[in-house]
Amino acid sequence: MSQPVPVRIRRSEDGKLLLITWTDGLSCHYPLSLLRKKCPCAVCTTEAKSKGPFYIPLYTADAMTISEIKQQGHYALQLIWADGHHTGIYDFAYLRSLCPEASEASDV
Ligand SMILES: [Zn+2]
Repeated sequence: MSQPVPVRIRRSEDGKLLLITWTDGLSCHYPLSLLRKKCPCAVCTTEAKSKGPFYIPLYTADAMTISEIKQQGHYALQLIWADGHHTGIYDFAYLRSLCPEASEASDV
């Protein structure tokens, strides 16, 4: 088990970023718009598939505002958005793969 897990999770002061520091020391700055676009729940992934890769969904400000972050056991975070969307469970490996800083460091 070398999967890093978050040790610190907080929102930026302007509310536009989710900041996660991992056990291996990497800190990731996730734009909330990115997290919402990459929502792994069945509703969002089905919609993304049906509309094709060039579909750009329009989100309201509420849809890109996190109202609550819940930890799901030891493997995932659940993000609850201000527009009520709450079915996105982001497991740590997935979150890590979305990290803008991680994708620069490694060529996956
Ligand atoms: Zn979703």
